[in-house]
This record gives sequence, structure tokens and C-alpha cells, in this order.
Amino acid sequence: MFIDVINLKKSYTTGSVTTEVLKGIGMKLEKGETGVILGPSGSGKSTLINIIGGIDRGDSGQVSVDGVEITDLNDDQLTDYRRGDIGFVFQFYNLVPNLTVGENIEVVSNISKSPLDTDVVLAAVGMRDKKHRFPRELSGGEQQRVSIARAIVKNPKLLLCDEPTGALDFLTSRFILQLLQQVNQKYGTTILMITHNAAIAAMANRVFRLRSGEVVEESVNQNTVPAE
Ligand code: ADP
Ligand code: ADP
Repeated sequence: MFIDVINLKKSYTTGSVTTEVLKGIGMKLEKGETGVILGPSGSGKSTLINIIGGIDRGDSGQVSVDGVEITDLNDDQLTDYRRGDIGFVFQFYNLVPNLTVGENIEVVSNISKSPLDTDVVLAAVGMRDKKHRFPRELSGGEQQRVSIARAIVKNPKLLLCDEPTGALDFLTSRFILQLLQQVNQKYGTTILMITHNAAIAAMANRVFRLRSGEVVEESVNQNTVPAE
């Protein structure tokens, strides 16, 4: 089991109001699979992937990723895990504006254990010739290609994507998804992605539907083949 989440709970307290955002989540994903999380806004999707990625912590339950029980890690170990094994792709790219494309990649590869070559990942996303450009000189789709290059340069075991195509038009979205599928097939990277897009869900091996902090439906897509 690559990702194994058991009875994960998380609450936030604002003033005197406590809201249970995750109410005992259970989900499993095998190595090389692509999983999609669907669900309405506020259902806990980002909280769930942030905990799996070591950005946030749950209150109780178990989260194991590639055999590592991340709930047992101390803060330093969790930072190592996040830096070493997890790639993140966000809706709004989160590139550093005053660094070039190449420098945005190198910020990450410089702190990675076994990074891939910057030019190789830029070529993989078709952005090799924009290496010396700044993010503001690029279209949204191009910025997302750079952010995918930045996520894969550390050769992560797991790629977590929070609405990666949420700010892009249909054709650009399709291109970005094809790119993510290529990463999955070429590097065997397990991918877990939040989306509102039904077409994306149809490409995934497994789909988890969240509602109010619970997995209310899980489906396995028989037409898709996980990466080796
Ligand atoms: P989704 O990604 O499905 O839209 P989120 O995981 O972002 O849902 O949020 C779930 C709920 O948790 C929302 O009601 C949100 O307001 C709340 N929430 C998320 N992060 C925090 C936080 N840091 N502090 C307080 N409440 C939060
Ligand atoms: P898209 O059609 O994908 O939205 P744009 O029309 O925004 O793309 O950009 C088209 C091309 O022009 C892209 O290759 C982008 O790199 C380049 N470009 C856009 N804005 C700038 C800029 N301010 N400076 C230099 N090049 C730019």
C-alpha cells in the first residue's frame, strides 16, 4: 500500500467554535496509481492532501506513505519527508516572481537528496527555451508547466496536486493533464490530485468523493492502468 489513511481526524478551532474538518477518513492508493479527490468546496480536500504531504498534521488516526508512518515523525523528520519525497503542484503555481524559471527549479533541486537535472525536467515539460524568463513573462499554462517541473525535479515518490488546472482553460488543462500522465508513466510517480473536473476523474485509477469531511464514495476505474 503506497498511501494508507486510517480513521484520520482533524478539527480547527476559531475563537470558541471548533469544526471537525476530517471525520475519520479512510483511503488507500497503490504505488504508481493516480487518485483523484472530488467534493464540494469546504469538504476537507486540501486539508487531507496537506496532511498526506506533511504540510499539516492530523489530530488522530494513521497516515502511512510508502511504508512510513508519518503521524509518528517529529517536526524535523516531517520536514525531511516533505522535502525529499513529495512534490506539490498548486492551482496558482506559487512560483517565486523575482527568480527566473531555471532559478525557481534550482531552489528546490538544491535542497533535494537526489534531484534530477534542471534542463532535463524543463525539457520534459517543454519549457527548456524559457529557462531564463521570469514567471510574469509566461502564460498561465506555461507557469503551471514550470511548477510541474519544479515538483518533479526532486524525483518525488508522490506528487500531490491541488486543483492543478483550476485556473486554466480547457485545452491548456488537457495538456497539463497529459503532462502529469507522462510523469506518472515515465517515473512511476504516484499522483494524488484534487479536482472539480469530471474529465480528470475519468482518467484516474481511483476516485474518492468527499462530503463534509468523510469519504462518501470510492470508485476504481477499470479502464486505466497504473504505472509500473
Ligand atoms: P476543500 O479543500 O475541500 O475546499 P479545505 O480542506 O480547504 O476544504 O477546508 C475544509 C474546512 O476547513 C473549511 O471549512 C475551511 O474553512 C476549514 N479550514 C481549513 N483550513 C483552516 C485553518 N487553517 N483554520 C481554520 N479553518 C480551516
Ligand atoms: P496563452 O495563449 O497560453 O495564454 P499568452 O498569449 O499569454 O499564452 O502568451 C503567448 C506567448 O507569449 C507565451 O509563449 C509567453 O511566454 C509569451 N509572453 C507572454 N507574456 C509575455 C511577456 N510579458 N514577456 C515576454 N513574453 C511573454
